[in-house]
Amino acid sequence: MQVTLMHHTPLDVCAHAIRTCWQSFDKSDSGGEKDRALIDRVGNKYKHASTLEHLNYNFFISGISRALLQELARHRVASLSVKSTRYTLKELKDTEAFKENDFKGASKFIVLTGDDRVDSASIKALNNLQQLLKSGISNDIAKYALPECYKSELTWSINARSLQNFLSLRSSKSALWEIRALAKEVYNALPQDHKYLFEDYIVDIKD
Ligand SMILES: Cc1cc2nc3c(=O)[nH]c(=O)nc-3n(C[C@H](O)[C@H](O)[C@H](O)COP(=O)(O)OP(=O)(O)OC[C@H]3O[C@@H](n4cnc5c(N)ncnc54)[C@H](O)[C@@H]3O)c2cc1C
Repeated sequence: MQVTLMHHTPLDVCAHAIRTCWQSFDKSDSGGEKDRALIDRVGNKYKHASTLEHLNYNFFISGISRALLQELARHRVASLSVKSTRYTLKELKDTEAFKENDFKGASKFIVLTGDDRVDSASIKALNNLQQLLKSGISNDIAKYALPECYKSELTWSINARSLQNFLSLRSSKSALWEIRALAKEVYNALPQDHKYLFEDYIVDIKD
């Protein structure tokens, strides 16, 4: 999978929001140490966490399975724009069938688990879908034969408060391996000067 941070809100916007409450604008150091400490104190320690909602992050995420996608979509406080299988299955239709052990070739379309028995079954499912498409069945009907391993991509936007919740739930050992890997990549993609707001929410994965 690949995770790219496309855009983020600078810390001083959040500090400004907090300072609006106390009218303490004159104490700002424009996103410096004083503002950073203020955000941590108010947003995290005092649990005035709505102030963290002023920080937004826009990610481009690719190479994840639809199994992961459906888990990611459960995080309601976030926005997703997902590659549509209704409009994009032509790319599979236009390729050749994959040999049962052609893991490298098939990995263009499916996420592999590393267990050859599962991955071979996924290739069969991929070839079945491809056959349906080649036989002229429309995307809207053929897509019901999509395997969960089929690769997807999305633009994902989330605020800092919701991202803390996502990271704590999905970095945990009890989460699915693929979404744990995503949580790690998302954390790694954050700007260095923002990571301090999230490090306590990373449960079982560290760099
Ligand atoms: C290990 C693990 C196993 C899971 N297994 C399953 C499973 O078997 N089946 C299944 O269906 N789901 C499962 N889930 C998904 C889980 O139930 C949540 O839907 C998902 O983790 C999103 O969490 P969230 O609701 O906190 O996040 P968001 O939807 O982003 O919500 C963020 C926060 O907003 C608040 N909030 C949002 N909506 C409401 C609301 N309607 N009412 C009150 N407060 C709200 C809550 O404080 C919530 O924490 C699993 C999750 C994990 C981490």
